[in-house]
Amino acid sequence: MTSATILVIGEHHNGRIRPASLELVTAARQLADDNSGDVVVAVAGSGVSGIASEFAVISGVDRVVLAEHDALAPFLPGPWTAAVALMIRQLEPFAVLIPSSITGRDYAARVAARLELALVPDAIDISLDKQHLVASRAVLGGRVQTSIRFIDDDPAMVTIAPGAFARAEPGESVATIEDFAVTIRADDLRVSLVEKVEHRAGAKGLTSAQRVVSGGRGLGKAENFALVEELAEVLDAAVGASGATVGAGWRPHSDQVGSTGHTVTPMLYLAVGISGAPQHLVGMSGADYIVAINRDPDAPIFKVASFGIVGDLFEVVPALTRQLKALKDHGQG
Ligand SMILES: Cc1cc2nc3c(=O)[nH]c(=O)nc-3n(C[C@H](O)[C@H](O)[C@H](O)COP(=O)(O)OP(=O)(O)OC[C@H]3O[C@@H](n4cnc5c(N)ncnc54)[C@H](O)[C@@H]3O)c2cc1C
Repeated sequence: MTSATILVIGEHHNGRIRPASLELVTAARQLADDNSGDVVVAVAGSGVSGIASEFAVISGVDRVVLAEHDALAPFLPGPWTAAVALMIRQLEPFAVLIPSSITGRDYAARVAARLELALVPDAIDISLDKQHLVASRAVLGGRVQTSIRFIDDDPAMVTIAPGAFARAEPGESVATIEDFAVTIRADDLRVSLVEKVEHRAGAKGLTSAQRVVSGGRGLGKAENFALVEELAEVLDAAVGASGATVGAGWRPHSDQVGSTGHTVTPMLYLAVGISGAPQHLVGMSGADYIVAINRDPDAPIFKVASFGIVGDLFEVVPALTRQLKALKDHGQG
């Protein structure tokens, strides 16, 4: 028998709350209000009491549970799976919301398998139907949206796509923080971290960036991504990439925007030499402003663009970078 608790896994990175976790608080609050439930944020890690305190002042959070263990940092799938599974077993929530981050997608599937729970990945909306959770997600490259209803009384697990909900902000009240004891067994430590390599997009935080410049196959070859990087540099933007360029090995998958990459919702999304396939559009059409540079006036990307430049990117991009640099040098950037 589950409670009406909505459990949010509060992810963090480099000592900061991941913005996607704050979006989950908004989603959880809506669900809890519809179901007379409460919102519990779980914070797992090592030395993360400060993160727990930050979550405690976020509007909509009723309770924070803090699971501290040395094995929970840096992230490894084994210990995180063990910790999250234990929390679900003990708290018996109605629903568990996990960010669709690279780590979230990893442990969510493992936890679901371990506890034999149903999991809907990459949901873009959640609601209640006759006391059952309904999660909506885009399929077939974003062309179709499906709604999936959980039918049993077990905790419903959902990973939520970044940008699907507004971020919850600090509020007036302070939630209680409770310690949660985690046991990590030797079996949970079968994978260890050998090396960590930060890609450029990781450093700039593609999914939380306010500006993203993405490159597509129109760049012709990997080396020409330098044009995108220079433009991104002057705009203080993260670098993204289309699926075609990742498939060609020009960029790492961590840069990919789209249905099988990241969903981004920046203030500005600049698409350079990207045609605008449905699989790409599903990952970026939530941006406030979309600027497209493409030499084909009929490219589908122009249908979603706020501003379009029809032209050769090898002329347009260097000129744009030069102009923006000049503005910046004159203190107007
Ligand atoms: C299951 C599945 C999942 C997928 N997931 C993703 C995903 O997550 N993300 C994703 O992006 N794709 C994904 N794809 C691939 C997707 O279908 C497209 O193939 C891909 O998005 C195309 O990338 P592109 O726009 O860079 O290349 P293209 O479609 O080849 O477009 C290149 C564009 O560059 C323009 N161009 C060429 N030269 C110049 C120039 N000199 N100046 C200006 N413009 C120029 C062309 O006019 C063209 O519009 C997926 C596909 C499948 C089947």
